[in-house]
Amino acid sequence: MELNFSNIKSFAKSMVSRGLSDKKIEPFSKKLRVLSCFGNEEMPPCEHLSESKTEGKYYCGGCGCGDRRGTWLISDADEYSKLDYPSLQCPLKMPGFTNYEMSSADESVSPITRRYFIEQMKNEEVESVVVTSIDIPEKQKKAIQEAIRNKNAKSEEE
Ligand code: SF4
Repeated sequence: MELNFSNIKSFAKSMVSRGLSDKKIEPFSKKLRVLSCFGNEEMPPCEHLSESKTEGKYYCGGCGCGDRRGTWLISDADEYSKLDYPSLQCPLKMPGFTNYEMSSADESVSPITRRYFIEQMKNEEVESVVVTSIDIPEKQKKAIQEAIRNKNAKSEEE
């Protein structure tokens, strides 16, 4: 996706929400964002999740902000990452993001959508989500990388 005026405006808004004191979104919403982007052991990652050229980092390929330190979704420790911004738009309006929209009735019909899956999760399940790349279980990391490889191979075929 090309970087356009609305992408720039939306990211500028996120930066303003960070303020001078590195304000962060509260933990529960960040966990919802991590689920929305990365999935979990039962749910595949988002179709827009992309692997950075920097090992172990990921960015959103759907918002047009590209692959650089400031756009990496999560980091290894307490370092500020994109999913920390108090105000943050998601191209798919997924849970945890500022522009989140609830699923429609047809999303609950099999095969259910990722958004509906997250909405059905218990609070304790959301609470247990890890928010640093270093803590993602090895099995899930492999599943994420495989999903991204398959997506890339498919788009090369088209
Ligand atoms: S589209 Fe939304 S859920 Fe998907 S990677 Fe981008 S920000 Fe995350």
